[in-house]
Amino acid sequence: MRQCPRCGGPMTAQAVSVLKPRGCLTVLFYIILLCIPVLGWIALFFLLRGRKSRLRTYFVCNSCGYSRG
Ligand SMILES: [Zn+2]
Repeated sequence: MRQCPRCGGPMTAQAVSVLKPRGCLTVLFYIILLCIPVLGWIALFFLLRGRKSRLRTYFVCNSCGYSRG
């Protein structure tokens, strides 16, 4: 059990799936990959697949609601 750095109360772990925000350069990179037949599409497929399985554990305080990743 973790202790809250703000109030010293108990913190509970929460698993939250987080998607990385896509920037302009990333979208441009996807479009370039889309223009490359077969090889680019395979790379794009793996890139898009890797984005979804991102799980982060957050610790949330029961008393004051303080949260940290
Ligand atoms: Zn707290």
